[in-house]
Amino acid sequence: MYYKSTRNFENRVTASQAILKGIAEDGGLYVPETMPHLTFDWQLLANQSYQEVALPILQAFLPDFTTEELQECIQGAYDEKFDDAAIAPVVSFDKQLSVLELFHGNTIAFKDMALSILPYLMTTAAKKHGLQEEIVILTATSGDTGKAAMAGFADVSQTRIIVFYPKDGVSQIQERQMVTQTGENTTVIGIDGNFDDAQTMVKNLFADESLKATLKARGFQFSSANSINIGRLVPQVVYYVYAYAQLVKQGRIIAGNKVNFAVPTGNFGNILAGYYAKQLGVPIGRLICASNANNVLVDFFNQGIYDKNRPFFVTTSPSMDILVSSNLERLVYELVGGDTQHTAQLMQLLSQTGSYQVDASLLSPLQQFYANDASEAETAQAIQAVLATYHYVMDPHTAVAFSVYQKYQQQTQDDTPTVILSTASPYKFPRSVVSALETVSDDVSDIELIERLQIISNIPIPEAVTSVIHAPVRHQKVVAVNEMKQAVLDTLN
Ligand SMILES: *Cc1c(COP(=O)(O)O)cnc(C)c1O
Repeated sequence: MYYKSTRNFENRVTASQAILKGIAEDGGLYVPETMPHLTFDWQLLANQSYQEVALPILQAFLPDFTTEELQECIQGAYDEKFDDAAIAPVVSFDKQLSVLELFHGNTIAFKDMALSILPYLMTTAAKKHGLQEEIVILTATSGDTGKAAMAGFADVSQTRIIVFYPKDGVSQIQERQMVTQTGENTTVIGIDGNFDDAQTMVKNLFADESLKATLKARGFQFSSANSINIGRLVPQVVYYVYAYAQLVKQGRIIAGNKVNFAVPTGNFGNILAGYYAKQLGVPIGRLICASNANNVLVDFFNQGIYDKNRPFFVTTSPSMDILVSSNLERLVYELVGGDTQHTAQLMQLLSQTGSYQVDASLLSPLQQFYANDASEAETAQAIQAVLATYHYVMDPHTAVAFSVYQKYQQQTQDDTPTVILSTASPYKFPRSVVSALETVSDDVSDIELIERLQIISNIPIPEAVTSVIHAPVRHQKVVAVNEMKQAVLDTLN
């Protein structure tokens, strides 16, 4: 099985090449030329570990890796750095509703699920191709990817990692996690701008031929740890399969029954993995796409019009404060029947005018999705309601998904068992979470709020939080968006 660019069907590469490159030269994203399909033995899977469930899925999507290579990658990634042996535990609230906790890794957000294995996949791919250059991971982060990528790549030989984050767009804990990052090969730079500015500039740098040539002469090659890399996307398919198997194990569904998944969505990576899982053969009903006030996807799903020309809101779910959802390009490619020229035209329109429209006749596959948004007030109400009803504290991103799930339920009366993907620990966003539950004055520090949260939630404070509170700051650089290229050159001098 090969991967090809969404913008040019002649640009074909193997899975390992796609992981090394991250993004295609033409600016497109790599997609499987033919989608794999598996027949699942749910009784067997129900009794398997996360690591065991992962293997056949990675084999299906990454056929040019050997079984031994994949096993090594899986064992290296999903080990004691996760603070729960299940890796991604499924917590059931009642007959109908469960939560898939994706925040038990190094940085207590769901990005760890894929970023703990990506460095293994990438270094294995580099060996396979006899790559001489050092791999430079260039990443724009809305708060969680950067830290999770650095945790994965820190001190991994033959790699460097440079992370750009919006200086005023992340939580205090998120910022502390990043600026205290250790590892000789890590660089963290704040930018005066938002995530979209950072992501757009990073994409431009990837496409900058002269920069590429300069860096090649210095012995470097770019790759990406953003969710445009299939090495991010494929490991995310695993937890949809695992969650389904766990529901079978818990007796909440009979194997073969449909399950809905509600996904707090930003760059459309997580939910796209759910869509791939469905195509792989997991009995998934609706994929519920939940947005915050930055609801550009909601309009796309309801009208087929993508329009990023709108105000940008900084919300309490910052990892979803995104107006250009990169991975949507992979869905658009499917909507237009795999026509790479058509996809390229639409993406060109997006970069030139900020908007595009998919013809109404092509939109029927979108019925597998439901999209809606939650306001800031609704998000806070969801945190309250879930605590009151289920004695469970949700982070604001997860609460957005819960709120949208409630809207879906009210509108459709659909009583299909549903799994809410919980993408962050509430400890990553203590101010927003505690403020949703009680009055918090501005002079209370995040550290005090963490202690308060422990009393409210009765969950131990994760080591990922305690370890950064007193760690020394190692990164202080802040640049303007148009200085990002120079900052990369300086770092790699
Ligand atoms: C990244 C992130 C999201 C959004 O996921 P996408 O794959 O970008 O749609 C949601 N919640 C949290 C906590 C995140 O870190």
